[in-house]
Amino acid sequence: MYRQRRVVESPMGREIVVDSRRLLNFCSNDYLCLASDPRVVSAFREAANKWGVGSGASHLICGHTAVHEELEEHLAEFVQRPRALVYASGYAANVGVINALLTEGDHVFEDRLNHASLLDGGWISRAQFHWYAHSDVDSLESQILGESSSGSRKLIVSDGTFSMDGDFCLLKDLIDLSSRHSTWLMIDDAHSMGVTGIDGVGTVDPTKHTTDDVHVLIGTFGKAFGTAGAFVAGSDDLIETMIQRSRNYIFTTAMPSAIAAATLCSLHIVQQEGWRRDRLRELVLRFRRGAEQLGLQLMPSTSPIQPLIVGLPEETLRISRSLEERGCLVTAIRPPTVPDGTSRLRITLTAGHRVDDIDRLLTALEQTARRRSS
Ligand SMILES: *Cc1c(COP(=O)(O)O)cnc(C)c1O
Repeated sequence: MYRQRRVVESPMGREIVVDSRRLLNFCSNDYLCLASDPRVVSAFREAANKWGVGSGASHLICGHTAVHEELEEHLAEFVQRPRALVYASGYAANVGVINALLTEGDHVFEDRLNHASLLDGGWISRAQFHWYAHSDVDSLESQILGESSSGSRKLIVSDGTFSMDGDFCLLKDLIDLSSRHSTWLMIDDAHSMGVTGIDGVGTVDPTKHTTDDVHVLIGTFGKAFGTAGAFVAGSDDLIETMIQRSRNYIFTTAMPSAIAAATLCSLHIVQQEGWRRDRLRELVLRFRRGAEQLGLQLMPSTSPIQPLIVGLPEETLRISRSLEERGCLVTAIRPPTVPDGTSRLRITLTAGHRVDDIDRLLTALEQTARRRSS
């Protein structure tokens, strides 16, 4: 399972140059194709001219600028929460938030397929850790019922869209359960914010679900927003608690203001350019239709994450290599990133792809699938 990094020699986009070869890119999380958008790049450049590069200190010392403040206000408005707080990365936000909310004697309940950062947050908090089977709300409920001691805090944590399978969490069921048992609910919407929902707001529709339903909402900027960083949104109390207690917020240098300014620009594009989501949906449909015609076993995903489970890691690597020979970059995903026996090609589509690109990928898959059966 030894990992090797590839050196990319071009900006992020529909095509990237890897080891001097130009390849169609089917494995980035730049779902809306904003990472190299000229407007986002300009916003970044202008802000760098105005604010410099480094923020110089943590938010609580003297690193918190007017741009951070503005971004937080816009984000809170976007997800219709009282407040939002920006972190330097999604990994930092998840660990920092869970660790600030829970301690010894508390309980955290996590989906088996949650992102590593959510698991790490649970472990580091020293709360009692409960793993429930993927999207198995009954199993989750029985685990909660088994821990009825009052006085301890209970937090349910789930990805909004699961990063390696592409399926959505059962949000309604999680909300019902959390309200019945008076637990808190935290949703990490890293892969859906910008990609689904009204104006790209993500899995949690704020017109239906307030902070009383989803107490802690996480969004990240490294995926659909095409920049870097993350935020947590929720009640005033939640955000104030994070400012006072979240170690990953307090003891780290603030995100550069230019990144915050670029993110403000992409937030605007995310809200305004619904065609990017429409385009993505059409491409996903086209890919799924084509793959089904080829007899490829797809996961039940309507998101831009379209994994093809292969099983064995060696076989997955082999197919990934032969796709690359045909000009398509699809990195093999192997354990421990995914469970044993489920090594896969994690195909991701973006609004920057063209219909022809999807067809080219399908042809490449057909050829590799043929080679497999011969
Ligand atoms: C990518 C990802 C993160 C981490 O976000 P970064 O900003 O890349 O650190 C957190 N949660 C999920 C579900 C992710 O997919």
